[in-house]
Amino acid sequence: MHLFQYREGSLFAEDVSIIDLASTYGTPLYVYSAGTLERHYRAFDSAFGKAAHLTCFSVKACSNIHILKLLGSLGAGVDIVSGGELHRALLAGIPGRRIVYSGVGKRPDEIRSALEADILMFNVESLQELRTIEEVAASMGTTARVSLRINPDVDPHTHPYISTGLQKNKFGIEMTQALEGYMLARDLPHIDPIGIDCHIGSQLTSLSPFLEALDKVLEFREHLSILGLDISYLDLGGGLGITYGEETPPHPRDFGRAVLERTKGLNLTLVLEPGRVIAGNAGILVTEVLYTKTTPSKQFVIVDAAMNDLVRPSLYASYHRIAEVLPHGRTEQTVDVVGPICESGDFLARDRVLPAVEQGELLAVFSAGAYGFSMSSQYNSRPRAAEVLVRGDTAKSIRRRETYDDLTALEG
Ligand SMILES: *Cc1c(COP(=O)(O)O)cnc(C)c1O
Repeated sequence: MHLFQYREGSLFAEDVSIIDLASTYGTPLYVYSAGTLERHYRAFDSAFGKAAHLTCFSVKACSNIHILKLLGSLGAGVDIVSGGELHRALLAGIPGRRIVYSGVGKRPDEIRSALEADILMFNVESLQELRTIEEVAASMGTTARVSLRINPDVDPHTHPYISTGLQKNKFGIEMTQALEGYMLARDLPHIDPIGIDCHIGSQLTSLSPFLEALDKVLEFREHLSILGLDISYLDLGGGLGITYGEETPPHPRDFGRAVLERTKGLNLTLVLEPGRVIAGNAGILVTEVLYTKTTPSKQFVIVDAAMNDLVRPSLYASYHRIAEVLPHGRTEQTVDVVGPICESGDFLARDRVLPAVEQGELLAVFSAGAYGFSMSSQYNSRPRAAEVLVRGDTAKSIRRRETYDDLTALEG
C-alpha cells in the first residue's frame, strides 16, 4: 500500500498535490512519501515480531540521508556497501552497532573507517578480504566482528543482473571454501566470527528461493557448531520483491513467519537487509512531456526525465507503471516514453498503452523510490533531479536540484 492516490482527478502524494510540487520544485522530480516509508518499514520489521532481530535498510536502494534518518528514527539499522554509504549512515545518525557492511571489494581504508565506527559486522565475501580485515583490525588494536557471506547456489528466478546467489555470480563464498574460511576466522586473533550471511538476489517474487537458501545456511551453521564454532547472528540479506505491474510478491508477514518457523529455538539474532520492499513504492518520479512525435513505425512521448534519472528500464528492461498526473481520459495509444538522452537505450517505457498526452502535461513514473535516484547520473551533462519528502500536507526539499555549476564544480 502506498500513499500516492488520485483525489478529484489529480495525483497526490499524501495530502500534497503533485501539480503543486512540480510547479514549486520543477521536473524531473523525485517525490517520496514519509507515511509510506514508515508503513513499509513497520510492516517488514513487525513480521519478525518479538524475535531477536535487526532490520538493516539497504542504503544503496535509496541513499538520501533524510530518508536514512527517518528510518533510523524508527529503529532501523542499515546495510552498506561502500565507505560513501558508511559516511551517509553516520551523517544520518545511525549507530555503528546497527550497521552491517556487505560487498565484494571493500578497500582497506573503507574497512578502517568501518572499524572506527564500530559497526556490528562485516559480511565477508572472500578469504583474501578476511585476511585484509584481520590486518587492518590488528593495526588498530581492535577486533572485527564478521559474518561470512555464503553463496548457497540457489536460483532466485529474477533478472540475471540482480541474481547474486548462484555459483557463477561474484558474490559470497562457496560452501566448502566457507568452511575453511570459518576455521581461518576462528584462528585469526583480530577476527570474531559471530555471524553467517547470504543474499541471493533482488526482486524475488516467491518465498521458495529464500527458504531453500535459508535451509542450506542453517545446515551449514549446524556443521560449524559441530566443529565448535557458535554462530549467533544469521543475516538473510534483502531481496523481497514488490509490485511494479502484475507481480504478486509474498507479503513480509509470510516471509517473516516462514523464516521464524525455521529458526525458532536456535538462539539466533536475525539480520534482514530489505531495500526495495521499503522504498520502492514509497517514491515516484514526476516528469513533464516535452514533445510528442510520430514516425512511420512508432509514436514517441518525449519527456524531461531520462535514463540518467531512472536507469532501471534501460538497464534491466524493467517495467514502471506510468500515468498522467491529471488524467484527461483521451484515447489510448501505444507509445514509447523516452528521454532527451542521445542513446536509443534511453527509454522509460516501450510499447506502452497510454492515453494520448500533450506537451506540458505531467506524468508520474511509479515505483521509483528504490534504485531510482540512487542510480542516477549526470550523463549528457544533465543536472540530477531534486528530491522531495512529503509528510501529510507538508513537503520538504531533501535534495535541491543540481545546477550547471554543480556539473563542473570539481573540474577546477
Ligand atoms: C542490494 C542488496 C540488498 C537489498 O536488496 P533489495 O532487493 O533492495 O531488498 C541487501 N543486501 C545486499 C548485500 C545487497 O547487495
